[in-house]
Amino acid sequence: MIGRRSLLKYLLSAGIAVPWSSVQPLVRTAEQKTEGDEAVIRRYNVLGKTGLRVSDIGFGMAVSTDPKLMVEAYHRGINYYDIIPFYSWSVKMLGKAFALDAEMKKNAVVASKLECQKMISYLRVPWSSFHKVIVDCVETTLKTLGREQIDILQLHSMGEGGESDLDWVDPSTDRGAAIAGIFETLKKQGKIRFAGVTSHGPQLLETAVQKTMDTGKFDMMMVALNFMRTPELMPLLKTAEEKSFGIVAMKVLANAKKMKIKTLDGRPFSQAALAWALSKPAVACATITIMNRKQLIEFLGASGKTPTFSDKVALTSHRILTSPGYCRVGCGDCETSCPRGVPIATLLRIDQYRSDYGLPDFAGERFAELPAAARTDACAGCVTQPCRNACSYGVSIPKRLQTAWSTLSRLRATV
Ligand code: SF4
Ligand code: SF4
Repeated sequence: MIGRRSLLKYLLSAGIAVPWSSVQPLVRTAEQKTEGDEAVIRRYNVLGKTGLRVSDIGFGMAVSTDPKLMVEAYHRGINYYDIIPFYSWSVKMLGKAFALDAEMKKNAVVASKLECQKMISYLRVPWSSFHKVIVDCVETTLKTLGREQIDILQLHSMGEGGESDLDWVDPSTDRGAAIAGIFETLKKQGKIRFAGVTSHGPQLLETAVQKTMDTGKFDMMMVALNFMRTPELMPLLKTAEEKSFGIVAMKVLANAKKMKIKTLDGRPFSQAALAWALSKPAVACATITIMNRKQLIEFLGASGKTPTFSDKVALTSHRILTSPGYCRVGCGDCETSCPRGVPIATLLRIDQYRSDYGLPDFAGERFAELPAAARTDACAGCVTQPCRNACSYGVSIPKRLQTAWSTLSRLRATV
C-alpha cells in the first residue's frame, strides 16, 4: 500500500496541487506553523499545445537571488520558472535551488531565453559563430541547472529592435531559417522540448504575436500584458486560444509595484492585477518577479481567482490616476515622432525599473547594455521637441527623458 508521504511526493511530482498543510510534513513538522500556510497554487492550466501543465503564477527570476525561496515556492505549488542566461545569476540561483531539492529539479518547468539581438549588438557575436554560441549557451545553462533538458527555449524580446527583429521568427528569412534549424537540432538532441518567443515591445508587440502564431514554428509566447494598455492585444489572445497557442503573461503589475492602492475588499492590488491578466484568453500563467517570502505569499493569493468587482474598480482607478505618469510596456507609438531616433520607449521602460520597481542597479545595467548611440543624450539641444505631444496617454516625454538620461547615466557609472 502506498504511504501518505509517497502519495504526496507522487502528487507533487505529477504537478498536482496539494494543500500546503499536507506538504509541510515533508519539509518540517506540523507543529511549526508559519505565516502564510494557506498560500498555495490553486490552479494549473495547460500551456496551449505544449501540453505542459503550469501553475497560474510563475516565478520570474530576473532579480531573485534566494534559492530557498524558490524551493519554498515549488512546495507551495509554483512549477513555472523563467530564467534568462544573459542575467547569469538567474540560472545560477535556479541551479542552487535544484541542488537543494531533487524533486523540484525533476519536475519544475524551466523556460529559458535566447537574446539574439544582444548577441549581435552587445556581445558582438559574428553570424558565422551564431549556431555554436547558442548551442554552448544552452549546454552551459543545462550544466548549471544540473538538468538534461530545458522545457521551453524562447527567442527573447522580439520587436524591441524594430521591424528587422521579426525576421528571427520568420523561417522564410535567412535569420529565421537559421534559428528554426537550431531549434530543431536542439529538440532532436533532447536539449529542449518546446520553442517559444517573447515580446515586451516597445514596438511591434502585436505584430510579433501575429507573426509568431502564423509561422506555426513556435509552441507558445510570453507577452507583456497588463491592465494599463490592452485593447490591441485582445483579438490576438482570442486567436491564440482558438489555435491552442499558449500564452504566458509578464509585466503584469505595470507601474503598481510601489503603489499602496488597496482594493475595496482589502485584497492587495497585486492580486487584482494578476487575476486580471489570468482572466484573459489563452493566458495559462502570469510570471512575476518574487523577491522575498512576503511577496511570495501575497502573489499566491491571486492563484485560482477571477477578478472581482472590487478588483476592477481598483484597476480602473489606478489607471486613471497614474495614466500620464506611466509609459506602457509594449507600446512604442511615439517613437516615430523623434527625428533623432531616440529609443524613447526603451529608455522610459528601463528608467521605470528604477522609479516604479525600486531596482536602480538593474536599471543601470540594462542601460549599459544599450548600443552606444542609444546611451548618448540626443535630447540635449532639441528645441522644437516634436515628441512633446506624441503620447496619447499624456506622458510628458521630454521631461521624463530628461530624468531618464541624467539618472541612468549616473547609475551606469556606479554599476
Ligand atoms: S511615452 Fe506614451 S506613446 Fe510613447 S511608448 Fe510610452 S506610452 Fe507609448
Ligand atoms: S526631445 Fe527631441 S531628441 Fe529628445 S526624444 Fe523628443 S524629439 Fe527626440
